[in-house]
Amino acid sequence: MVTRTECLSYLETLLEPNRFHDYCPNGLQIAGSEQIENMVSGVTASLDLIEAALDFGADTLLVHHGYFWRGEDPRVIGIKQRRLKQLLINNVNLIAYHLPLDAHPTLGNNAQLSQLLGLEVDGRIVGTGDPAIALCGCLAEPKSVPEFTDHLRQTLGREPQVIQAHNRPITTLGWCTGAAQGYIEHAAELGLDAFLSGEISEQTVHLARELGINYFAAGHHATERYGVLALGEHLAQRFDLNHQFIDIDNPV
Ligand SMILES: [Zn+2]
Repeated sequence: MVTRTECLSYLETLLEPNRFHDYCPNGLQIAGSEQIENMVSGVTASLDLIEAALDFGADTLLVHHGYFWRGEDPRVIGIKQRRLKQLLINNVNLIAYHLPLDAHPTLGNNAQLSQLLGLEVDGRIVGTGDPAIALCGCLAEPKSVPEFTDHLRQTLGREPQVIQAHNRPITTLGWCTGAAQGYIEHAAELGLDAFLSGEISEQTVHLARELGINYFAAGHHATERYGVLALGEHLAQRFDLNHQFIDIDNPV
């Protein structure tokens, strides 16, 4: 068990949210219990995740996608009212970390994806945010497009969308979880064989073909399960908490 204040001050030191220009507030978004003992982590603070957290008896919900995004309707009505109401009447803290959790060098989404897929990190891709969040590196052994596709399918449990722009084996690549398809041009500037992210847009297909870089869309949710899971486990160990990661299926 830990006090909420102590847990949050530890998270500030660990994730350094003030270094990022983010689209949402990072840290405590909704205040609930002052003691933290039972924590549920998950990708997105949807109503399904909140209800699963309440079934677990959580006093704290830790997520990657929280609330209060820049430009959203600030009124507490509809979906937002129903989500906030469940958290507030049950005295559950909502703690959310967005870009700081993508970027963290060991617990972050991109670092965790590297470990999971066996990607060796050489550095960050310049231009992918300030500070940069996308990583570049290489595969220990070059893989053909079908081999790498198979590797993604087996590791992430879903069929990736693949845009093949050349037939060379994949040795060097860049990657960034989530809706990071726009970074493909920065990856191509480095002359990498491939770029991997979560979501794909219509124009990503043309960019990949014309830039001559293979592109893999492995799923926004599928690529972003691992940072918040690692952070939840890290906090559970550090503060002796009961913790469970709950995966609410999302095909995107
Ligand atoms: Zn995301």
